Amino acid sequence: MSQKETIHLRDLMPGVLSSMDAIKDSFGYFETHESQQVDRASVEAVMQELTDRLDNNFPYFHPQYAAQMLKPPHPVAMAAYMATMMINPNNHSIDGSRATTEMEREVLAQLREMFGYPAEGLGHLTWSGTTANLEALWISREINPGKAVAHSKDSHYTHSRMAEVLNIPSIGIATEPDGRMSLEALERELQTGKIGVVVATLGTTGLGAVDPLADIIPLARRYGARVHVDTAYGGFFTLIPDELDAETYRHFAAIKDSDSVVVDPHKHGLQPYGCGAVLFPTLDIGKFYKHDSPYTYFASTELHFGEIQLECSRAGASAAALWATLKVFPLTREGLGAVIAPGRRAARNWWNLIEESEVLMAYQKPELDIITYLPKAKSMSQLDEISHKLFVMAADTSRPQQTHLATYVTKQRNLEDRGIHLEWDSPQARIMRSVLMKPEQESLIPEMHWHVEQWTKRAMGLPSGLDG
Ligand SMILES: *Cc1c(COP(=O)(O)O)cnc(C)c1O
Repeated sequence: MSQKETIHLRDLMPGVLSSMDAIKDSFGYFETHESQQVDRASVEAVMQELTDRLDNNFPYFHPQYAAQMLKPPHPVAMAAYMATMMINPNNHSIDGSRATTEMEREVLAQLREMFGYPAEGLGHLTWSGTTANLEALWISREINPGKAVAHSKDSHYTHSRMAEVLNIPSIGIATEPDGRMSLEALERELQTGKIGVVVATLGTTGLGAVDPLADIIPLARRYGARVHVDTAYGGFFTLIPDELDAETYRHFAAIKDSDSVVVDPHKHGLQPYGCGAVLFPTLDIGKFYKHDSPYTYFASTELHFGEIQLECSRAGASAAALWATLKVFPLTREGLGAVIAPGRRAARNWWNLIEESEVLMAYQKPELDIITYLPKAKSMSQLDEISHKLFVMAADTSRPQQTHLATYVTKQRNLEDRGIHLEWDSPQARIMRSVLMKPEQESLIPEMHWHVEQWTKRAMGLPSGLDG
């Protein structure tokens, strides 16, 4: 096996820039128009101001940023994106993106295989999970017109919003205490005959809960409803069955029987923002996309992505970045799976520590890499106050010492469902939530947990290991 090493963007860029310049030069030199010429010193000043202003951010790239769903793209993705951006292909049409349309077809084939979809079918990359979900819901509306979208109450808010855009009703289905969609509540809605599509979320954005897809599919089919899988955040956990509970994996394995699926490579796929994907297992839905526009320039008879997507212009650079990344980190257990697994273990290990803590308790057992927990408080108002203090205290120190946590708002009902009973002096309270999506976080957990316990004690006014 070859030796592995850390690679930086600056290592890759010189070679990439000269190769791309050589391609451009091969068409002959031309002078840049004077309207686009610039004063070098003032551009350098702008760049300096830019980087100064970018200092005003939380350290999303750092393992001690254990808050929201944020992480940097891999340098391979960045270098591929920048190389491609230098010619800026548009994956709307083959003519506008010859090489990157081919790359997109290749990555789609890999995504289809990961989910167990047939090799033949429709789908494409998108700018986002939102547009990808919109497209899947639109196709469902065309197939089951006039019917509603059913999604769990914990699903991403995009589903009710996109149902509004599509002018179809949406119905929130209750969740069980483990955060998964209730099958009984779903069946009651299906019995009304009004549901056209059920959205199963495999990895909710808030809690990382996995809806029971393997059971939703036969249920929905019995009532003639389609099943759309929103696994924008969770999709790549398909690669690590050994790290998931058998019950969780059973639902990932059922994606192959769904009618559409959405995954966001810009979440767990090491990509810069602007990379979602929607996939359909069949070709017959192609008829819904028919349009006849005088602006397009389809010179080839092969299918252009512009003919099978809602969006028009779309970055070829995004396809190139994902293509290059998957060459280096293929969609296997040892490839991208090895990047996903440590976060999953980090969440499980932290949960074990929290279960034994005197001052913290778990809100919900993590299924993927999101952990939710709370300080042991007496009342709702005290819970909210301690959570907020903890959140502030953890980050209120010098940069190398900072830990960035996030809070999550929950209600009395959700706490009661999880067997947590407080004095209900307020209808809602913040608890703690961390997305552990950076593999470096696995080894940090024991230390981070110790600190969080001490900050919690301090926020509670108890003696802590930080005193003295
Ligand atoms: C992030 C997310 C979305 C929205 O995707 P964007 O790429 O942010 O537009 C939808 N559904 C789920 C489950 C998500 O995690």
